[in-house]
Amino acid sequence: LPGAPELAPRFPLTPNPAPASAADLDAVMGHLAFGVAHTDHMARARWTPEGGWHDRRTEAYGTLTLSPAAAVLHYGQEIFEGLKAYRHADGSVWTFRPGFNAARFNASGRRLAMPELPEEDFVASLAALVAADDRWVPGVEGSSLYLRPFMFASEAFLGVRSAHEFEYLVIASPVGPYFVNGFEPVAIWVAQDYHRVGPGGMGAAKTGGNYAASLLPQHEAYDKGFEQVCFLDAVTGTHLEELGGMNVFVVDADGTVRTPALSGTILEGGTRAAILQLLRDQGRAVREEDIDLAGLLEQLRSGKVAEVFACGTAAVITPIGRLAGEGFDVTVADGRPGATTTELYTALTDIHYGRREDPHDWMYRL
Ligand code: PMP
Repeated sequence: LPGAPELAPRFPLTPNPAPASAADLDAVMGHLAFGVAHTDHMARARWTPEGGWHDRRTEAYGTLTLSPAAAVLHYGQEIFEGLKAYRHADGSVWTFRPGFNAARFNASGRRLAMPELPEEDFVASLAALVAADDRWVPGVEGSSLYLRPFMFASEAFLGVRSAHEFEYLVIASPVGPYFVNGFEPVAIWVAQDYHRVGPGGMGAAKTGGNYAASLLPQHEAYDKGFEQVCFLDAVTGTHLEELGGMNVFVVDADGTVRTPALSGTILEGGTRAAILQLLRDQGRAVREEDIDLAGLLEQLRSGKVAEVFACGTAAVITPIGRLAGEGFDVTVADGRPGATTTELYTALTDIHYGRREDPHDWMYRL
């Protein structure tokens, strides 16, 4: 992949029609809530059958003009990604495995019959936006600039078929730690009455519909006092798939680490892939396989399972201290973050912030 200085000019900065927002940056940075504040610019491009990708540009952040008949509003033809830009101690700005996200974006696009975006355009759009909004990349410990690339069907047409016009955009949001309490164990509700996805569906794609399906169960779990929902497979309802926005891992007392296999119904997380790699580098026993809920509860009660955690770009790693559902409520070990969970969190965040060696060249300088 070429470097950001060569790629960024693909999305040239247009003269701003309006001055950049006069938001008080320091006030915003003082209490960063996830995804609330937006930066001054957005990168974008347009796709048509005749022109392919064209009109690449970086312009002032602002509202979109869209036909009420735009296909995305009716049939949900849209995909997105999420990654972060991290400020290192020397002031440089880096992101984590943008090539992984570019590939996943295109895999999602294929599932939704959308045009592919060349990897170099994906990375160029991130580089151009971060260059334009450098002042929005926070330097405070645990903070970062969340980058949200997305593509949607903009064609005004009510027939049910893949659209002929698409818009691609990247917006950004300065963020602090995802969970208000930071690296503190969360309580998870296991949904037994709702499923997010099914076999042959869109579970392996990062598309809004999957998240729409998770909102009601998530809301009901909140009301019961739980932070997140863990979904089970839709065929047997017996094994764990993932959380609404994170993959899930189990650490056995003998040190073996397990995570659900990529069955086609879960999203392959970049964090998941990196954790598997870090563990394999250490020679740890790692298994990608079905994790049976009933078995897990039994192993938690008998002490055979020592740790459970979730992982994803937004929170990196989140210890799970409690797992409950209809008819069960189990504390994971003593309810505190376990050793493997903590080590992995430290290793990954150290790599993100340039505090330790990056043996796989995961970091890419924007
Ligand atoms: N599963 C789902 C459903 C997600 O939305 C995410 C967040 N992208 C993940 C897993 C974790 O993926 P990643 O580690 O690439 O952020």
